[in-house]
Amino acid sequence: MGECIFCKIAAGEMGTLIYEDDAVVAFRDASPQAPTHVLIVPRRHVANVEALTPEDENLAGRMVLVAQRLARELGIAASGYRLVVNTNADGGQMVYHFHMHLLGGRALAPHMG
Ligand code: 5GP
Ligand code: ZN
Repeated sequence: MGECIFCKIAAGEMGTLIYEDDAVVAFRDASPQAPTHVLIVPRRHVANVEALTPEDENLAGRMVLVAQRLARELGIAASGYRLVVNTNADGGQMVYHFHMHLLGGRALAPHMG
């Protein structure tokens, strides 16, 4: 996956990680849609939710808990935040390496889509 931008970021080849463990990394979105906009990304290349298998159960759980941890550390847990996972074209996915958006720091519109 030499051409995958999130593989390169996860490998530490570019950008700045704000969190990393053996399975997951996090970094700030290059085009933030809210005062806090972080991407939580598996180190291993997986295209999206559609590409997950039962073995990824722990990975998906880890990503949610990393989001919780970062929301607290970044001071948006009490005010609130949104976790977003876009999947395929109609879901608005632009980068085909699975990632979870953590958005907060302002009141987000209550509607979906
Ligand atoms: P998607 O629509 O695929 O869910 O969102 C992809 C996100 O990745 C977008 O919010 C976009 O701003 C972000 N992004 C795309 N390329 C880069 C990059 O090279 N670095 C960072 N930090 N974010 C990126
Ligand atoms: Zn990748």
